[in-house]
Amino acid sequence: MLSTMQDVPLTTQRILAHGMTVHGAAQVITWTGEGDPARRTFRETGERAVQLATALRDELGVGQADRVATLMWNNQEHMETYLAVPSMGAVLHTLNLRLPAEQLTYIVNHAADRVVIISGSLIPLLAPLLPRLGTIEHIVVAGPGDRTPLEGGPARVHDYDELIAGRPNSFDGYAWPELDERDAAALCYTSGTTGDPKGVLYSHRSIYLHSLQVNSAGSFALTPADLALPVVPMFHVNAWGLPQAAFMAGASLLMTDRFLQPEPLAEMIETMRPTIAGAVPTIWQGLLAELDAKQRDVSSLKSAIIGGSACPPALMTAFEERHGVRVVQAWGMTETSPLGSVAHPPAGLPEEEEFGYRITQGQFPASVEARLAGPDGGFQPWDGESTGELEVRGPWIAAAYYGGAGGDPFRPEDKFSEDGWLRTGDVGTITPDGYLTLTDRAKDVIKSGGEWISSVELENQLMAHPGIAEAAVIAVPDQQWGERPLAAVVPRDGADEVSYEELRGFLGEQIAKWQLPERWARIAAVPKTSVGKFDKKVLRRQYADGELD
Ligand code: ADP
Repeated sequence: MLSTMQDVPLTTQRILAHGMTVHGAAQVITWTGEGDPARRTFRETGERAVQLATALRDELGVGQADRVATLMWNNQEHMETYLAVPSMGAVLHTLNLRLPAEQLTYIVNHAADRVVIISGSLIPLLAPLLPRLGTIEHIVVAGPGDRTPLEGGPARVHDYDELIAGRPNSFDGYAWPELDERDAAALCYTSGTTGDPKGVLYSHRSIYLHSLQVNSAGSFALTPADLALPVVPMFHVNAWGLPQAAFMAGASLLMTDRFLQPEPLAEMIETMRPTIAGAVPTIWQGLLAELDAKQRDVSSLKSAIIGGSACPPALMTAFEERHGVRVVQAWGMTETSPLGSVAHPPAGLPEEEEFGYRITQGQFPASVEARLAGPDGGFQPWDGESTGELEVRGPWIAAAYYGGAGGDPFRPEDKFSEDGWLRTGDVGTITPDGYLTLTDRAKDVIKSGGEWISSVELENQLMAHPGIAEAAVIAVPDQQWGERPLAAVVPRDGADEVSYEELRGFLGEQIAKWQLPERWARIAAVPKTSVGKFDKKVLRRQYADGELD
């Protein structure tokens, strides 16, 4: 029997209409590096989004399902594209500006982007690739930047502000297409930490439901009283969904533009007083070093969300004890929109006990179902001890990758189980009350003599040593044991040199002796991926080339 309820599609059009009216006074604030930051209200932002949609449709001929790419920093115009492009029925394709040229070229061609909207300062990045980007018909430049390198090619070049100026700006004045909530709204390629980038095509429904979840109290609880600072780029899993969620909730947004270095970040936080910020651990590590060197008041942050890689417990403690900022760890992936789990402790525990929960990857919300695939084809119990590969399923989790016929290397079907769950490639345990602890990525786990050693656990312990700034542990081949851990450590600036013997002793206080590394290397910095994660592929290559001794 069908229900008697209205069947209203969940689309980004509603997010736009709601934010620009009900929360019209909230603001998008963009850091400019000097003087006052740029500010626009949600009403103005929404009106400019309507103007952009009009220009894209009427002037550039963008139709439904056309891919409109962005190559932009987190800023005002990027926010406008987030609102305009999906609402008009086109697909917003956020390009990762830190990808190597080869990958960027492949991705634009694979997605068949027709339009690229680009921050002026990024023109030097795009221009050399243009001869190989056959599908791009229009380039829209936002903000200052020398445009000459873009000229002379087949793509027409437009100025963002000129393109939208004078066009109708009322939401009701635009003939929004009637969308199916399952239609594609946005496209994001994984950052390729463990292989080639793969496209995840989000739907209106997935974005809408994900935004509701981001705003729920069990996640990040955005309200109109908040100023949210997504340090995580808008090209990295939609800045974790914070822009759309904030627009829906009426939380103002603080945008970094290109000022992502620790010093401007610290200044931004001190002067603008955001209440919540999200970034990967390496950004927080950099900010911590900056704050330790030059004390600033960052106490406006009621939560610092850390995700994208395991949050070293020492980082969490340092922020809380030295700077009064509470860290909240979350887990997710491009394929999960990304919110998969958030580590809030159970109610009513004393502080010492809370910590044990807060350093986990957290609890799954109701919409994310999880199971652990064991080594023998069965599933492991949620007993906090049995280890398996995490598989998840839910309304904002990918069911396949975008594009390409079977055999396309960008569509590895083995990422999905036969019954449609996403195989995350992450290995860990789940407690009876649903707290996930990841011990490793399947590819990074060290298999020694038939037992598994967690590289993450070794790294976390090493990074708790006062003489160590960063540590990455990789598996290296070993004749006797199959694999053994090699620890590559970055000594902390100005700290006394620590011997490997001392580090082994330090690890031995927490970790079983057979798991302790006997191979060590001192390195200047851990290589990082395009989104700031430890790049163990590079370390493994360096080891194979004899560079890690
Ligand atoms: P890529 O897979 O290219 O790195 P993603 O940004 O989608 O791109 O990365 C998702 C992966 O990041 C997860 O599968 C997991 O391995 C890791 N990750 C994300 N959040 C956490 C976390 N809190 N703790 C440990 N690992 C995490």
